[in-house]
Amino acid sequence: MSEQPLRICILGGGFGGLYTALRLNQFPWTDGHSPEIILIDQHDHFLFTPLLYELITGEMQSWEIAPRFEELFANTRIHFQQGYVTAINIETKRIKLDNCKDLSYDKLVLAMGTKTPLDKILGSKNYGLPFRSLQDAYCIKERLRALEIAKFNKIRVAVVGGGASGVELACKLADRLGGIGRIRLLERGKKLLSNSSEFNCKAVQYALEKRLVRIDLETEVSRINSNSLSLHCKGKTDTIPVDLVILTVGNQVLGWIKGLPLKHSEQGLIAVSPELQVIDHPEIYALGDLADFKDITGQQVPRTAQAALQQSYYCAWNLWASITQRPLLSFRYQALGEMLTLGVDNATLNGLGIKFDGPLAYLTRRLIYLYRLPTFKHQFNVGLNWAIRPFMEEITKLIS
Ligand SMILES: Cc1cc2nc3c(=O)[nH]c(=O)nc-3n(C[C@H](O)[C@H](O)[C@H](O)COP(=O)(O)OP(=O)(O)OC[C@H]3O[C@@H](n4cnc5c(N)ncnc54)[C@H](O)[C@@H]3O)c2cc1C
Repeated sequence: MSEQPLRICILGGGFGGLYTALRLNQFPWTDGHSPEIILIDQHDHFLFTPLLYELITGEMQSWEIAPRFEELFANTRIHFQQGYVTAINIETKRIKLDNCKDLSYDKLVLAMGTKTPLDKILGSKNYGLPFRSLQDAYCIKERLRALEIAKFNKIRVAVVGGGASGVELACKLADRLGGIGRIRLLERGKKLLSNSSEFNCKAVQYALEKRLVRIDLETEVSRINSNSLSLHCKGKTDTIPVDLVILTVGNQVLGWIKGLPLKHSEQGLIAVSPELQVIDHPEIYALGDLADFKDITGQQVPRTAQAALQQSYYCAWNLWASITQRPLLSFRYQALGEMLTLGVDNATLNGLGIKFDGPLAYLTRRLIYLYRLPTFKHQFNVGLNWAIRPFMEEITKLIS
């Protein structure tokens, strides 16, 4: 009787999980070791979040930034299971999904990322829109379209949170709405982009001013209503009218992950070793936004796509090495820099000793992201579409 292959379950098909699965698939598995690889995600598609803004302006189409897992896994050994993970029994090594029977695992990868906190500001759940998923982007686009149809003179949008997501979104919204947009960027800290380089901060400031985005610093939003929001600024409370409130207010670990009997940080992130193994559970790996750890040099690893992608290579290697009795590698984070999109045809880029902004930075950012998209086939299809799209648009204009 043939033995059951060892089963690796990867929970979450984002930057950490998807790229771990794809890399794992490339290793030379000998027959005796060949495992079953199952990736589980609530959605049927991956999402390349750094390009989500481009959906708001129509610069890109959803198939380009959100390829379906079934397409990505064609001709691989990876199986995709769609479902929402609701619990994990660490003792019995079983995963509970909302839509099918439990799954067992031998090795587990936790890569479910985080969510936008909707419990910090009153009214967020009813009247605030997060900006994190494909559905969020569709929802924002629909609301903008409805406002554009209903309104004639101005559309007032408040973006809450002045981090990278907030400033990038504010610029894209300003370009999308043009003269009728009144964009307000609300940040409770003393400055925007608290972790960015001076060069990028200056480029951001210029791009926001050029687009007439109003910046409110040291401003705390306390309540969101159906068409207004309340804010505290320098001891004063004010209520301002708004048509749309978008939240880019950071990350929160999923509630049930906080409850797992594993070692957590104060914010509920899962503590892992530099080999990406969960403390006291070498059969479980965790990476990406839900993991809290310092790399082998003692450097705190940021919660970005860049870091999750780098971790995925180590995670895949260490899974393979642990199964084929090879030494594990300790993760070493390489900060490659930061790229920000600042409207249509504009971006800023600072990393590896190079810094520039404007249309060239926009093009460079696009090409780097094209290279980062998963699978060569998807990169090729998207690249080809980018190359022929301007010609197709010209032809359509000529015909109509
Ligand atoms: C709008 C936006 C723009 C960003 N831009 C950048 C950028 O330019 N550069 C950068 O470095 N970082 C950027 N980030 C941050 C980056 O997206 C995250 O750091 C990165 O995605 C983390 O990877 P991850 O694998 O931990 O989680 P994710 O990529 O978020 O993936 C988590 C996956 O788990 C799935 N999932 C979650 N819970 C469950 C469940 N219970 N059951 C089943 N599936 C589940 C989700 O559907 C998702 O597919 C951006 C984030 C956002 C929201």
